[in-house]
Amino acid sequence: MKKQNISIVFIVCTILSLFSGCDKEKGETLKVPAYAVPSLYERTTIPENEPEPPRKKEELKNLASETDEYGKTISKWPSIELSGDPEEVVEIGQDCLYEDDRFFLFFQKGVSIRGDVAVHMERIMRELEEELHLSFDRDPVNSEINWRFLYFHNAFSDVNRDLSKVNILILNTPENDEIEWAAENVAVLFDKDVFSPQADLSVAYHELAHVLQLRQSNSLGTVLTEGIATYAEYKLSVKENRPARSCAAYVRDERNLSLYDESRFYDDPVAAFIEDSEITGFHEDKPYQCGIRFVTFLVETYGEDVLDKICRISLRFEYDETYTDMIMRVIKDATSDDVFERFGRWLPDGWKRYGEEYARYMSQFEPRNQEDSSQACA
Ligand SMILES: [Zn+2]
Repeated sequence: MKKQNISIVFIVCTILSLFSGCDKEKGETLKVPAYAVPSLYERTTIPENEPEPPRKKEELKNLASETDEYGKTISKWPSIELSGDPEEVVEIGQDCLYEDDRFFLFFQKGVSIRGDVAVHMERIMRELEEELHLSFDRDPVNSEINWRFLYFHNAFSDVNRDLSKVNILILNTPENDEIEWAAENVAVLFDKDVFSPQADLSVAYHELAHVLQLRQSNSLGTVLTEGIATYAEYKLSVKENRPARSCAAYVRDERNLSLYDESRFYDDPVAAFIEDSEITGFHEDKPYQCGIRFVTFLVETYGEDVLDKICRISLRFEYDETYTDMIMRVIKDATSDDVFERFGRWLPDGWKRYGEEYARYMSQFEPRNQEDSSQACA
């Protein structure tokens, strides 16, 4: 791997604390940076209306996997068909893959899934696109890294080589503190996240939202990145009328208490935004809490296509040590120069309204037992 040509954007999922990726079979712990800044090359002259880097696209096109007459990948690796039946439990006996129109599922030996797991993944991808006004069909712009190697020892090497489809990895639920994560062409999930789709798929929503955004933008920093994913997670929970318990720590808890100090934004919103944006690591809730507020404000104030605008404009920049400055400039270019001041003015009433809406929405879901109750108020 040539480091200077790689964008490593590890976006690690939410509630759990520290992250260390682990190559289990080798028994080594792979330390990855919590949030490495991508180094992008030859990006500075991309015209505003056509921000896709043509060279990368051309390179990727040459890598396309061989397909049969139906467009299915010809591969030497074990593959499975899925019945679509939610009642069917499938025990995966060997590492294998499933191909769909827009994604691959890669299953690790030992995971348990249901027959309709692919149906849910297809639906989640579609709903995320509708909600965020972004598209999975854009080519991944930042990276040619195929992250499967971390978990499958270079198996499936002839599959999805051009990364035109999303790689969704379903791994055994770990016993250590390893957590789910995503990059521009991969979502890493555990079988616990997808085994009971009717109960909760919030982690899948969250990680696939990261893939969707990262697939078409440069890194936008933790606040925007986690904000977009958390916003999508909440919106789609409401749409499907399921409890958005994982959002509680970022919105307000079920007693309608704010868990985030918004007052920092009232006097100096720029400084507060920078402060939360420069938090790295995933042991802090602040980037998520700031993020869901900021993304909610952006969509309400600048319209539903504002995230798409931000993603496109981000492609015009090369990232360097002035990373936060650049992200703020991208946001301003996509919105208005006074966007942060407006956010500061919006927060007291604007967010209060959303907090109350959240509390009202969640009040229909009575905690069923002590465990639910403590989860909801965590
Ligand atoms: Zn995340």
